[in-house]
Amino acid sequence: MALRLVLLGPPGVGKGTVAKMLAGTLGLPHVSTGDLFREAVAGGTRLGGLAKGYMDRGELVPDELVIKMLLERFGELGDGGFILDGFPRTLPQAKALDEALSDNELSLDRAVYFEAAEDVIIDRLSGRRICRNCGAIYHVRNMRPAVEGVCDECGGELYQRSDDRPEAIKVRLKEHAKRAGPLLDYYASRGLLVKVGAEADAETTLARLEAALGLGEPA
Ligand code: AMP
Repeated sequence: MALRLVLLGPPGVGKGTVAKMLAGTLGLPHVSTGDLFREAVAGGTRLGGLAKGYMDRGELVPDELVIKMLLERFGELGDGGFILDGFPRTLPQAKALDEALSDNELSLDRAVYFEAAEDVIIDRLSGRRICRNCGAIYHVRNMRPAVEGVCDECGGELYQRSDDRPEAIKVRLKEHAKRAGPLLDYYASRGLLVKVGAEADAETTLARLEAALGLGEPA
């Protein structure tokens, strides 16, 4: 299905988990700018070197760098639809995406905003663990792997992101709060914004998302 979606919302709201599930169901590419930056850091590339300090502090990487990185991969998104996760995070990023789409005579279908209370988000971020190998997402209480510290999907080692520690979490939530309003107004004014409650488990949130997109029944 050629659906072009951006997923918005605070860090830790569950965008990545639900994005992976929906991408699997619909057979769409899932592109997470956070994952792309983490790959660049792990690979020791120039881009990774430029982004690392911002990421470790929980700050946003400057628009210029993020937009350049995304547009370089734009071809991979294809005309067949995509799920963008963690991009855009600022108004200039949203505008750059719209321009790139319209240059290719394409447009977004929906901008989905995931909502959850701050205490839920902080709990999710501080308990989150990621597979170093395949990027699968776990939680120390809510989404535990069968064997502690080992990924169910690929057997990779689970680790805690350096920006999932309390100091960086505070900065990330502030960064989000500062920029969310204009971004939501931008998409609302284009009639693209839908909001999805994301406090329940991932399956329920996915069902709500599918219903909001007209793909299934409400949970
Ligand atoms: P995420 O995995 O989406 O939480 O992203 C991790 C970190 O990567 C963020 O805290 C930022 O430092 C950086 N990052 C990812 N996407 C963006 C973006 N669209 N704009 C700016 N920085 C980003």
